[in-house]
Amino acid sequence: MSWIAALLVVLLAAVVESGFRSDADAVSGAPALEDSGGRRLMIVILDSLTPEDAAAMPVLHSMMKRGLSATVEPCLDRLTKMCIDEALTGRQYFSLFGLLRNLGPLESGPGPNLLRDARSAGRSVAMVSAGDLGAYDGDVDVQEIFKGGYSSAEMETLMGFAKDHDLVVYHYRWHDSISHRARMGSSRYKRSLRRMNGALAKIERRLPTDMDLMVLGDHGHTKDGRHLQGLDVPTVLAVRSPRVVGESLDGRLPLTAARFISGVIMGLHSPDSRWEPAWSSWITGRVSLALRAAVAEKPAPVPERELGLSLALPLVAFVGLAAWVGGGWAALLVALIGLGMGLGLEDFTARVHNARGAIPRLQHISWVPILAGGLIGLLARRRWRDAWTGLLVATGLVLAVLLPINAHYGVMKNATNLMPALAIGGCTAWVFRGRWWLAVGTILAAMWAWPHLTWVRFVNLEVRTYKSFRWMAEQPELALALIGLLAGVLALALIRDRWPVRVGWALFAAAGPVVPLPESARLGVFLLLCGVWLFPPAKRVFYLVQSVAWSLPLLFPLEQQAGVLGIPLATGLVLFSLRAVPERDWRWRWTGALAVCVGGFVGLGWTMGLSVSGIDFGFLVRFLPGNLHERLWWLVGMGTVVKVFLPVMLIAAMTQRILGAQGRVVFTTASRAVALRVAIIGLCVGGWLMAPESSAAGVKLASVIQDAFYWALVGGMGALSWAALERGAARAA
Ligand SMILES: [Zn+2]
Repeated sequence: MSWIAALLVVLLAAVVESGFRSDADAVSGAPALEDSGGRRLMIVILDSLTPEDAAAMPVLHSMMKRGLSATVEPCLDRLTKMCIDEALTGRQYFSLFGLLRNLGPLESGPGPNLLRDARSAGRSVAMVSAGDLGAYDGDVDVQEIFKGGYSSAEMETLMGFAKDHDLVVYHYRWHDSISHRARMGSSRYKRSLRRMNGALAKIERRLPTDMDLMVLGDHGHTKDGRHLQGLDVPTVLAVRSPRVVGESLDGRLPLTAARFISGVIMGLHSPDSRWEPAWSSWITGRVSLALRAAVAEKPAPVPERELGLSLALPLVAFVGLAAWVGGGWAALLVALIGLGMGLGLEDFTARVHNARGAIPRLQHISWVPILAGGLIGLLARRRWRDAWTGLLVATGLVLAVLLPINAHYGVMKNATNLMPALAIGGCTAWVFRGRWWLAVGTILAAMWAWPHLTWVRFVNLEVRTYKSFRWMAEQPELALALIGLLAGVLALALIRDRWPVRVGWALFAAAGPVVPLPESARLGVFLLLCGVWLFPPAKRVFYLVQSVAWSLPLLFPLEQQAGVLGIPLATGLVLFSLRAVPERDWRWRWTGALAVCVGGFVGLGWTMGLSVSGIDFGFLVRFLPGNLHERLWWLVGMGTVVKVFLPVMLIAAMTQRILGAQGRVVFTTASRAVALRVAIIGLCVGGWLMAPESSAAGVKLASVIQDAFYWALVGGMGALSWAALERGAARAA
């Protein structure tokens, strides 16, 4: 069922992709049209600059009055990286299959852009940034990264670059950080504006006379600093150059116009960027006739957004999947939740995605309905078992309505409540049959572990910081000790043998991440890990645990190693609570199923940040000399899949160890749970696209569809891992 769900997601993705033909398909790679009179240019990108900010900055305000200026509509995602890509490439990007496109030649980045065009034309390019523009690393001659805030060292470096480079890109990131923390109009906010104005004054004063200046924002923000898809957050652009007219333009320019204008100034007009013939009126007589003619004649082809009826096919298929999995009522519920979620998605996120403290974060309150469900169950029937029923139903419903977006209203952060609730549910079934202390211990351990494993920070929809383990960077020895301990405990839990032997193997596993070993040796172990299913059946779990322990430092940085080991252990707590349940009915099946799904999903947060851009295959590529990785991309892909799904594989091993052969029911039920979740997300995508004035597109739409795909893969890879292990166990018996 998981694989059918995965296929349906691919169908949905294909329909959406064909409806939103990306500009990326139209890139010809043709060289920019050069003009020998082109001038040198500095582009200053002021992060999160609103039109009000610009009006309050005297230097920028007067620059806008004298030169070419306009209000600018930011990129769809309203996120820094995507917006800067639009400004520098002159194209809108939208592709769900971007990764697949990139994986073959392992080429990432924005494609042809102003920096690359400048270098191809023999001009030199320099960049000063805060480290967010890594995609352009290959397109600059020199780059300096400054972190932590604006400094005079940053300004000195920038003005040094201006002396001897033809194009200087400066990403002034600091106003964005302030606008997220201080409300518009507060004294801290005003200070940020003054500092930014001062920086701009220095630039204007010290800019070489033969260098022109373009100042633009990547996006604006609301009064409380937000800049999300669907919010109206315009920004501005101001240009000082003799090659464009000094005019304040009406209406809103698309951000892609920044590439056009900088192309006019530098004499590097790209046929791959977007423009309109009407824009030729901004060009002065200093620009070559050839360039002016090219702009006037050839309108940029703007791809149309057409979805129409083709969208109905996958949506009906998702409802059909839900009906097949759970019957007619389940299908109706799934359709209502999914479509409703999609129709209200933008309103809801605009309202809920607020600054810290305005209204409670969802993960701080989602335990309330779950607990209420348990209490209702208990009071209705006055039996502990029915408290479990209530908890389980409420947990399932909360899981169903959580948004498929990586934020505090998504699944990863709310797993902090979902997983302990499942453990409590399992324990209530046996807590009064004696051994209550074991039940209390299990519940407390789950309530302690899950908040740590879900305390993350999302940046651009990707998990970037694992807050509970941030201390590891400063105390690497202690971190290694913890990781060794986790590996040892995992081995102790999973390996079956006589006690002294088990302890010995646990110590061996604990040594794995700790003992210093050359990378190539760890690579050898990782290759063993990839072939773990080829080992004799009885030995598979043993090899799985040991090869994970010994290859882990090759695959992940310290904090992620801890998570990859911690997730299966913490999922094991729920499975452990099920072990003592005498009656193995539907509650038992669904509690186990939800635990292995949610555990596996959170595991993806640790291995790939729940985002395509979080997938790191560098650990394999760096061993392949030259361009070998381009020919061996399938090998790199396979290794990466194993790496990404390690927690899922370990959870399957955990299930087998704790629940024995009956774990099979848990995994078949997990496949059904996953299919329902995928159907909800698929219908949510449909609802979002059909919503009036929907701005469904861009990276956010891609990430929602990918979210459905991840769920399907968690189910599919879980079932596959289970089958491989169970066949092994059956043969060994
Ligand atoms: Zn920004």
